Amino acid sequence: MNGPRVVPAPADFVTATVRPEIRALRAYAVARADGMIKLDAMENPYPLPQAVRERIAAAVASAPINRYPDGGADAVKSALRRAFGIPEAAGLILGNGSDELIQIMTTAVAQPGASILAPEPSFVMYRLNALYAGARFVGVPLLPDFSLDTGAVLAAIERERPALVFLAYPNNPTGNLFAAAGIEAILRAAPGMVVVDEAYHAFADASFLARLAEFPNLVVLRTVSKIGMAGLRLGYAVAAPEWTTELNKVRPPYNLNALTQVVAPLLLAEDAVLAEQAARIKAERSRLHAAICTLPGVVAFRTQTNFVLARVPDAPRWFEHLRQEGILVKNLHGWHPSLEHCLRITVGTPAENDALLAALQTLR
Ligand code: PMP
Repeated sequence: MNGPRVVPAPADFVTATVRPEIRALRAYAVARADGMIKLDAMENPYPLPQAVRERIAAAVASAPINRYPDGGADAVKSALRRAFGIPEAAGLILGNGSDELIQIMTTAVAQPGASILAPEPSFVMYRLNALYAGARFVGVPLLPDFSLDTGAVLAAIERERPALVFLAYPNNPTGNLFAAAGIEAILRAAPGMVVVDEAYHAFADASFLARLAEFPNLVVLRTVSKIGMAGLRLGYAVAAPEWTTELNKVRPPYNLNALTQVVAPLLLAEDAVLAEQAARIKAERSRLHAAICTLPGVVAFRTQTNFVLARVPDAPRWFEHLRQEGILVKNLHGWHPSLEHCLRITVGTPAENDALLAALQTLR
């Protein structure tokens, strides 16, 4: 006699098949921000001028969304080349956010035994994507002032021979720009791709984009997320065509959706609006940084980005107090030993920054 058939639970299938290192993760939690002053995600706080919104509305209304988008996204590429002076001879690949390009690059190099190196603390997606791809991740600690420990990175390159090095320039979440000489030494020593991730280039005084011809292994990664288009999900990487040809083989064929493809060129044509918003953010950054520095017991680190990293007396309590006041920042306490009691505060509009400073003033 057969007994009642035992039906396995979904969890049994999951345990039997999903990799243990994936099961051990927690999915990236995006904080709920309904109705709050949102200073947690390095977004541009300024809305677009009405005339630009109307042009977007008209373009979206006639977008052929019954069709797959242009797989090459040629209109977006031309707009990026024009807006950022990317030479025709340079290879250009687009991603659904630069997050997707990080995944594409990691996947392309992750053969058995391959390692991926980045300083730490830095953008968490470098480590996570190495894990997704099954590549070994080598994190090299930054110095206590968050500058690059070039000697330690060069020693790790010699030892590990990483297929891929990620350098966020400026760095997230520390906000500083590493010394160019250190990056040059890494580019010369690395046996593989070196990605200089310039997500915050609009707020920084330096870039490696004009130096592609000097370094055959340099890939410059950028995003439009921090300059007012986070919702479009558009990142781009510029490198020798030999690199972008290979990366294109890993890219999903229609990774840039049709609406992004009609809207992005319209916004990228608005040089004056983009430049003016970036200038306002930089001016507010100086004001916010100076004001945070005057708070007793608080240290604000130097920044070339659109955020300020601050060490406060009690980050979990300050984060919670700000949240009660309707202000969302990022609490980095517990992320990395060198980020103890650190909050990362995105530069908002003058009114948002005033609200933040008023709320901080009530804390001790
Ligand atoms: N690189 C760095 C250094 C970042 O800080 C971020 C966003 N926080 C990204 C890449 C990803 O940006 P996106 O996917 O929006 O292009």
